[in-house]
Amino acid sequence: MHLTHLECPRCGERHPADKLQNLCGCGSPLLARYDLAAVAAAVTPEQFGLRPADLWRYRELLPVADPRFVTTLGEGWTPLLRAPAYGHEIGIPDLIVKDEGLTPTGSFKARGAAVGVSRARELGVERIAMPTNGNAGAAWATYAARAGMGATIAMPLSAPTICRRECVAAGADLRLVDGLISDAGRWVAELIAESGGRVFDAGTLREPYRLEGKKTMGYEIVEQLGWQVPDVIIYPTGGGVGLIGIHKALHELRELGWVEDRLPRLVAVQSTGCAPIVRAFAAGEPRATPWADAHTVAFGITVPAPLGDELILTALRESGGTAIAVDDDEILADLRDFAAREGLLLCPEGAACLTAARQLRAGGWIRPGERVVVLNTGAGIKYPETVDVSGLPTV
Ligand SMILES: *Cc1c(COP(=O)(O)O)cnc(C)c1O
Ligand SMILES: [Zn+2]
Repeated sequence: MHLTHLECPRCGERHPADKLQNLCGCGSPLLARYDLAAVAAAVTPEQFGLRPADLWRYRELLPVADPRFVTTLGEGWTPLLRAPAYGHEIGIPDLIVKDEGLTPTGSFKARGAAVGVSRARELGVERIAMPTNGNAGAAWATYAARAGMGATIAMPLSAPTICRRECVAAGADLRLVDGLISDAGRWVAELIAESGGRVFDAGTLREPYRLEGKKTMGYEIVEQLGWQVPDVIIYPTGGGVGLIGIHKALHELRELGWVEDRLPRLVAVQSTGCAPIVRAFAAGEPRATPWADAHTVAFGITVPAPLGDELILTALRESGGTAIAVDDDEILADLRDFAAREGLLLCPEGAACLTAARQLRAGGWIRPGERVVVLNTGAGIKYPETVDVSGLPTV
């Protein structure tokens, strides 16, 4: 393993990686750092192509020392699908969708759960706890079950019921909260404080390794494009872990010398019903302020106060990217339009990225001929209510 330490991106403090860590003393999430010179000496990009089609092909850049602790359901290496019909319609012929809907548990949260649970198990964790909008809880409950670890999950009552069922099926201790993910977070914080160290806080960005799992989307996009970076990557941003992870992955690849010295412009998509990052980006602020009365059909991105706000905003600015908020009715219209033209049912969060792509192209921010990768972060069939089937003729 080439993991060397954990680093605080805010105050610069180094923390040892061989014991359990949550946030830095200054309150910032921590980032895993590797001996990249040793990685470059140990493996070449060509070798990845000879390995199994899952995210563990990047093991030199992942934080698990002993393969016995790897907890896997085959996550990763999801397809990059060209979408020429819809792409032509919106003026982006080189539109590509990375379809995370094919990941175990039906969302890309499985990437973070696989790596996070594996490392937690290696460091001796017996029970994890977290607040969730649904998919993260379902994924962590599932991987915890596979690792023989306990899981306590707190989820808003309004979260998709399929995620509730997944947690129960995996044997998790599931609590429902009449409120938002931030309210669930308060309950979990109390539980952790009272547990005397017996329950590990695995909330979004509160431990450093979920990010490491999600960053593999960045490696995959580049490897699947023949070790080329696209012009733009569009990401539905809640807690922002995937966006921060992709940004981190691209930096690592650049430092390894495996890609050209150019970053894709990263785009954070939020809903007009919950857009703290878009508001902070537009105002030029370094941090986001909490969004009141958050509500959107794209439940996975309903995060009123993301802990990684600074890291998200840095990734957007440093890459020359942007942040954009889109309306629920447009998300649902694009979801239907895309499914009919391309034959793929997206999750609402993925469809939000299409709406963003369409609007950014119409406004000229995306230029003619640019290669644009959109993340479909979950399986459309997890959200059957996005398609209205009332009033169909009976024969
Ligand atoms: C969690 C989630 C998101 C947002 O992911 P972050 O990395 O927290 O920003 C987007 N889409 C779906 C389907 C999700 O479950
Ligand atoms: Zn710090």
